[in-house]
Amino acid sequence: MIGLVAGALTACSTTQSTDNPEQQAPSDGQVTAPGEAVPQDEEGAVEHTDADHGGQSGQSDEDISEPPAAEEVPAVDEDEAPPEDYYMNSVYRIVPKEEGVDDKVVLLTFDDGPKEQAMLDSMIATLAKHDAKAIFFVNGFRVEKQPELLVQLHEAGQIIGNHSWDHIELGKATADEIDQQLEDVQTIVEETIGSSPKFFRPPFASSNDHVRQKAKEEGMLFMTWSNGSLDWDRNNQTPEAVVNNVMEQLHPGANILMHELEWTAEALDTLLTRLTDEGYTFLDPRAIDINYEPEP
Ligand SMILES: [Zn+2]
Repeated sequence: MIGLVAGALTACSTTQSTDNPEQQAPSDGQVTAPGEAVPQDEEGAVEHTDADHGGQSGQSDEDISEPPAAEEVPAVDEDEAPPEDYYMNSVYRIVPKEEGVDDKVVLLTFDDGPKEQAMLDSMIATLAKHDAKAIFFVNGFRVEKQPELLVQLHEAGQIIGNHSWDHIELGKATADEIDQQLEDVQTIVEETIGSSPKFFRPPFASSNDHVRQKAKEEGMLFMTWSNGSLDWDRNNQTPEAVVNNVMEQLHPGANILMHELEWTAEALDTLLTRLTDEGYTFLDPRAIDINYEPEP
């Protein structure tokens, strides 16, 4: 693993990229809270068109789930879901529901997969080494291409989130398109691993009231993030940059946006070690009570 220079944090402020035009005008004005880092999302080149998944969303009333064979479930014990001691606040940070619960937690998330076997092998192994779970926000068109990678993530005890089928700007889509984009991912994930996602993140943080409502109807918690690794940004595509960007923005309950990318996979062991050294623990996403509404 790459050795990182401890002093590298000092000077640079959080880089706000300007070279991704899709980033500059998120259509959902609510995603940026005062004092928050401006949400930065991925260079999400849409890699295919609607035609690629036409007709895939066959509805099935049956529960077709086939639980993974017990002997194939490695390392992480996925049977023991933790108590739902946390909720997500209005700026997408993870907060204890009650006093006395540790607030120095981070939520690890990886968007835009599942892409590559080798990269996922590495990420899953590193997460297991640190006894960490993450949400992998997947796109339906990728799941359709490589469903076995989704199964691998699930069997490793990792949590699957919905990131739309085509990685489009949902804030610019019609209501019907939005519904289809979310529903089709719920369907293919359930067909593949036996349960549908409980978490939703819109690509580019592009959203609107309909997107939020649809996510809720599908039983999902809507989120963007509160700590952007900027790993999608072409000026930040080194393990050192990923680690530094996350550490500079670190705060209790940080909802850390990363992607299934080579340099991120390479950074992961060092990043998780640094977070642990700072006294943070890795929140099991299942510890988030997705229906909790704090009193105003
Ligand atoms: Zn994305």
